[in-house]
Amino acid sequence: MAMSLQTTPGSRDLSRFPHVVVIGGGFAGVATARGLADKDVRVTVVDKHNFHTFLPLLYQVATAGLEPADVAYPIRTIFGQADNIGFRHGRVREVDHARSIIVLDDDSEIAFDHLVVATGATAAFFGIPGASRFAMPLYSLADARRLRNRLLLALEEADVQSEHSTASLNFVVVGGGPTGVETSGALSELIRIAIKRDGLRLDPSRFRIVLVDLAPRLLTAFPESASRYAKRELESLGVEVEFGRSVVEVEEHAIRFADGERLETAAVIWAAGVTSSGTLAHDLQASAGPGGRARVTPDLRLLESTNVWAVGDAAAVPLSNTEFCPQLAPVAIQTGRHCAEQILRVLNEEATTPFKYRNKGIMATIGRHAAVAKLPHGAVIKGTAGWLAWLGLHLWYLIGFRNKIRVMINWTWRYFDWPSGPRLIVADAETAE
Ligand SMILES: Cc1cc2nc3c(=O)[nH]c(=O)nc-3n(C[C@H](O)[C@H](O)[C@H](O)COP(=O)(O)OP(=O)(O)OC[C@H]3O[C@@H](n4cnc5c(N)ncnc54)[C@H](O)[C@@H]3O)c2cc1C
Repeated sequence: MAMSLQTTPGSRDLSRFPHVVVIGGGFAGVATARGLADKDVRVTVVDKHNFHTFLPLLYQVATAGLEPADVAYPIRTIFGQADNIGFRHGRVREVDHARSIIVLDDDSEIAFDHLVVATGATAAFFGIPGASRFAMPLYSLADARRLRNRLLLALEEADVQSEHSTASLNFVVVGGGPTGVETSGALSELIRIAIKRDGLRLDPSRFRIVLVDLAPRLLTAFPESASRYAKRELESLGVEVEFGRSVVEVEEHAIRFADGERLETAAVIWAAGVTSSGTLAHDLQASAGPGGRARVTPDLRLLESTNVWAVGDAAAVPLSNTEFCPQLAPVAIQTGRHCAEQILRVLNEEATTPFKYRNKGIMATIGRHAAVAKLPHGAVIKGTAGWLAWLGLHLWYLIGFRNKIRVMINWTWRYFDWPSGPRLIVADAETAE
């Protein structure tokens, strides 16, 4: 018998409702669970972290512009008001399709009627020797804290050596996409502020920030005018931009390129792309989609499954016969919402509808006052207008009122100067995941 799935106010007996398990509390998982809030389903969100992370601002945590708590929010608090949504902290190890259960790292099992896989992606190292061991990715809050520690330690060490060393201190950023561009610009500003405000005895000419990419231009998803603008802005901040550079090895304190050059480094920051290989989504199917993502039907179900869905970065969502949706926050949010609607449709014995992506454009910021934005119809905004658009959009999507206020105050403060900031070396970050 079809069950009515309307909002039912007051206390309810949830045990008779179908159980929807959502793995992942990122943009996609949160959007899915929000779409099921107060409906006649029982929802459990499972995540290996007890918080949601706003990945687009991680680079500001890594460069000591924001605190970790400014870009993270407890998943339990997000759903505190919804009586039908619970949270389970833990890493999911496997999905047993035959028994409709998931198995966590502590061997506990959770049964589901519908399962939503929203496990995101991870840094892609392309099998380059030493890269996963020595390069520093930026994909989690722990990554950002680790990188912040490394950068601040490098500055302190340079201060100690300043009297007897003139050797240059090289920071190499691998990848000229939005994350590489944003991190390079912010790193340049961090070094300038550390010298100007913190009294570090450093000669600015000893620092080199080198942004390398195999491609012939930055921000390849943007029009060429935006790439040229980003390069000019980065160079005005002292960043050296090098194209056609292929990394062949990363060592503990050096990087090697295909042309034979070996450069001593204080840190190699890895912003070269993402993959779902090695994540749960990749293990779900015998034949994974592009970038290790789980292939889904137009209504977002795993191929050949009736009750397992994949959304966000974890899913290869068809855009056309030959293309897939990009791995971006708006895609994650939209697929999450769509998936929730489709689960309710299935439970109501209604036909599902295909997902349609509404392009919201893309953006990247370069330092404090500059950004580029490509609008959905292709027009490009640059400079301060782009930067203001970038600020507004990120504040809008950031979860938590307190986080929005803190970040807004922080950015306003920084617009005029950058006297303070969490330039703290917190040792325990090395051991956290
Ligand atoms: C540094 C960086 C900057 C970015 N900047 C932008 C930007 O400016 N604009 C934009 O549109 N997009 C940006 N993106 C992309 C955007 O953040 C992603 O597309 C989006 O986060 C995808 O959301 P998601 O929910 O699919 O995955 P995620 O946000 O990655 O969330 C996945 C969740 O699953 C959990 N998880 C994973 N595996 C397991 C498991 N086995 N068990 C339990 N839990 C698990 C993780 O802990 C995490 O909470 C950026 C990404 C990065 C890394």
